[in-house]
Amino acid sequence: MRLRVNQISMRLNYSDSDVIKAIAEELHCKTNDISNPEILRRSIDARKKNQSPRYILSVEIDYSGRPLSETPGKIEKAPRPEPPLTFPLLSPAPTPPPIVVGAGPAGLMAALTLAEAGYKPLLIERGAETSDRGQQVAAFWKNGILDPESNVLYGEGGAGLFSDGKLTARSKDRARIRRFFETLVASGAKPDILIDAMPHIGTDDLSRIIPSIRNRIWELGGACAFNSRLEGLHIENGLLRGVTVSGKEIRTDACFLATGHSARSVYSMLHESGVPLEAKPFAVGVRIEIPQHRIDSAQYGKWAHLPQLGAASFRLTRREENGARNCYSFCMCPGGEVISCASSEGLLTSNGMSLSARAKPFGNAAFLVPVETSDFVGQASQPAHEQTRMSAPLSGIEFQKKMERAAYEAGGADYGLPAARLIDFLEQNKGDLPAERSCARAIPALLQDILPEFVAETLHSAIPKMLKELDGTPFEEALLYASETRSSAPVRILRNSDGQSIGVRGLYPCGEGAGYAGGIVSSALDGMKLAEGFALSRK
Ligand SMILES: Cc1cc2nc3c(=O)[nH]c(=O)nc-3n(C[C@H](O)[C@H](O)[C@H](O)COP(=O)(O)OP(=O)(O)OC[C@H]3O[C@@H](n4cnc5c(N)ncnc54)[C@H](O)[C@@H]3O)c2cc1C
Repeated sequence: MRLRVNQISMRLNYSDSDVIKAIAEELHCKTNDISNPEILRRSIDARKKNQSPRYILSVEIDYSGRPLSETPGKIEKAPRPEPPLTFPLLSPAPTPPPIVVGAGPAGLMAALTLAEAGYKPLLIERGAETSDRGQQVAAFWKNGILDPESNVLYGEGGAGLFSDGKLTARSKDRARIRRFFETLVASGAKPDILIDAMPHIGTDDLSRIIPSIRNRIWELGGACAFNSRLEGLHIENGLLRGVTVSGKEIRTDACFLATGHSARSVYSMLHESGVPLEAKPFAVGVRIEIPQHRIDSAQYGKWAHLPQLGAASFRLTRREENGARNCYSFCMCPGGEVISCASSEGLLTSNGMSLSARAKPFGNAAFLVPVETSDFVGQASQPAHEQTRMSAPLSGIEFQKKMERAAYEAGGADYGLPAARLIDFLEQNKGDLPAERSCARAIPALLQDILPEFVAETLHSAIPKMLKELDGTPFEEALLYASETRSSAPVRILRNSDGQSIGVRGLYPCGEGAGYAGGIVSSALDGMKLAEGFALSRK
């Protein structure tokens, strides 16, 4: 009988035989009643009240002892494994091939899924492949030289290449999450991501993994065109007939549009082509940087020195009060760096990344304030009813651009990031910056000049209270960078339940830019799901 045993508590340096012994104790059986253990999930319990930090495991085993009574939540029959996803054999591959635009997580996984289903997709990416992109981004961070086609946001790997590579998965779609993580492991990610409760990869490892996924698409007969930009769609009577890529027309009846939320020219092109879009709420704010040892000791207390625990992270929220809106931390990068990002001249936004070791001396996270469509569609006093949202779908982008332009100017107009110590922000001073910080090209600035008033006021009221939850973090040591504007898409490309645009059959908007996903995992899953649906519907 295959059993799942949950909440097995183990010391940090456990061995396989320790796990069997602990399960045998739990089941009151002999160790040789247990075979084929497989750890499904591993989290760390480092609460300060514990005698020592522990791993908490969920393990599946084959059990051959006396009958057991199930204890829901603790011991249960293992569910049947999901059957592998199979597609009917396609030979020869259908023509014209489906086109996937954008080589971020959504586009790569859509293209891989199509290739596995026997199609020979053509993957189009405006930016460069990973290695060339790395050099372009290094020049941007060092000297402020921006390539508007290939940068921190555009290029192979998409927006998440220079990232912490946190694999946050809120979806209940366990089977697809597993398939995505297995793809990452088959492409070089550490197998730990399959079991860790808070898996992450890091920019250095992602730079090896992403090209390996692309090579797999190649091996299966797909093709990838880098430095190639989607410029237009050919639509006849609501049906997709082809696309224009870097001036060339390509015939197709299926295009997976996975261009991310920074592809503003794509949103404009869709709007002009009559593809139905709507404005959606998003969030903006600042990125805060704190010495990592403060975060570690706030989270782990006396265990903070233990290397097995890794750099600690946090998640903080503050509810709306006294006219200030909600505020929440987002995209925490333990032991990481704050980075400047841009994809067009004169517009600047901040973000964070880490390497796989997460060993840098600072941790950072965005602190965000929700922005409703009524903040940017029409007059703020008018309700953002459906009609208004539909008629001004791109106005959230204008809201973002205003902040990004102000940040660019305040940062010295060469992509340095405007920054201020928290105490200066609270006192509305420009002040100076600490010499010790992760982002070398940072310029002292009055952040209130960059942020909309309601955002500045909310952050002013919320950040000190939120940081108090990270006990032991002096405000003097916190540094703020402005501004976070691209945490999610400000536009939704409206689609049907089969994933196609509600106005254009054959157009499959997917990933974060479509407005139905956010983050690496959910964007990848969205790309997979739409490609699977397409392959199964055309069999
Ligand atoms: C610095 C940074 C750190 C992040 N860290 C994390 C993290 O740790 N964990 C997490 O879950 N999420 C993180 N994110 C968010 C995550 O990267 C995105 O949610 C995810 O990449 C979205 O995937 P996507 O495939 O939908 O779009 P994208 O990754 O944005 O990919 C879109 C691709 O389309 C291409 N493209 C755009 N327009 C065109 C065109 N006209 N023609 C051809 N190609 C085009 C772009 O060049 C880009 O490569 C981070 C984002 C950034 C910027």
